Amino acid sequence: MENRKRILITGAAGFLGSHLCDRYIKEGFHVIAMDNLITGDLRNIEHLFPLENFEFYNHDVSKYVHVSGKLDYILHFASPASPIDYLKIPIQTLKVGSLGTHNLLGLAKDKKARILVASTSEVYGDPNVNPQPEEYWGNVNPVGPRGVYDEAKRFQEAITMAYHTFHSVETRIIRIFNTYGPRMRLNDGRVLPAFIGQALRGEELTVFGDGSQTRSFCYVDDLVEGIHRLLLSDYVQPMNIGNPDEITIRQFGEEIIKLTGTNQQLVSKPLPTDDPKQRRPDITKARAILGWEPKVNRAEGLKITYEYFKSLPDIEIQHKDFAYYNK
Ligand code: UDP
Repeated sequence: MENRKRILITGAAGFLGSHLCDRYIKEGFHVIAMDNLITGDLRNIEHLFPLENFEFYNHDVSKYVHVSGKLDYILHFASPASPIDYLKIPIQTLKVGSLGTHNLLGLAKDKKARILVASTSEVYGDPNVNPQPEEYWGNVNPVGPRGVYDEAKRFQEAITMAYHTFHSVETRIIRIFNTYGPRMRLNDGRVLPAFIGQALRGEELTVFGDGSQTRSFCYVDDLVEGIHRLLLSDYVQPMNIGNPDEITIRQFGEEIIKLTGTNQQLVSKPLPTDDPKQRRPDITKARAILGWEPKVNRAEGLKITYEYFKSLPDIEIQHKDFAYYNK
């Protein structure tokens, strides 16, 4: 169909990117999906391959990005996003947030497309205020292990605002807080797949530090709705999207033990360097400007996510490093 809206989604084979592909296919868009498959997995989007309004390019957006034809929207979601990933591939993490964002802003300018970039609560670092409002500037260690991700994302916000100010590009910046749901990688090191994987394998659940650090987990469908509303809004300042329901990691481990009906114990492991002690989004702006707030509570969201992990082939659950064996 000629008059379909055309959207480029980078990081399309990843957890969030693949859900965004599904959403914009449902919205009737022509979806141009891009991913270099470093951390993404084609199985997340293979169901879309037969569709005539879906196309996929295996490309690293840190290199020049070419898309033929018109483009209405760009969603830049390409980036390693878990501490284990960006420790393994720090340079690519820096490049996709900086050079990749630059390339996509240039493409947006050229195509007169609106671009939404995925930033993160990591721009707040180990925050000294809780909850974190968008006005908080953060407490980031630039040279710590998380610096490669945090600083790339901070640069991404800066260059995105510069393209808005100096080139009048229509830009949107979302700061994403911890999000979970089906298609997370079982081996990505994040706490939810780590705990569920351990429970499924009959192992102890590894709580880093004393487990008193907090996170606030948002179900992926809520996040996708927030992204969609921000994209269609005219708000150009960074916007927090996340679920403010805060929980300690120890309590979270206990919830997973209950959910999985296993009798596993929690075991303490060293706390990673610069692990934020608290994290909770202030979503006053999202409520007021987008009329958005999360709808799925943790019990519901965790149940759906657990069913997804249980449905994976046993080999994947047993092989903690499955995705890497296949590279
Ligand atoms: N965590 C944990 N055990 C694990 C993995 C993570 O206790 O096996 C903790 C981690 O130290 C952090 C929290 O869970 O405090 C969330 O970690 P995650 O990597 O999911 O995301 P982050 O919010 O730190 O980027």
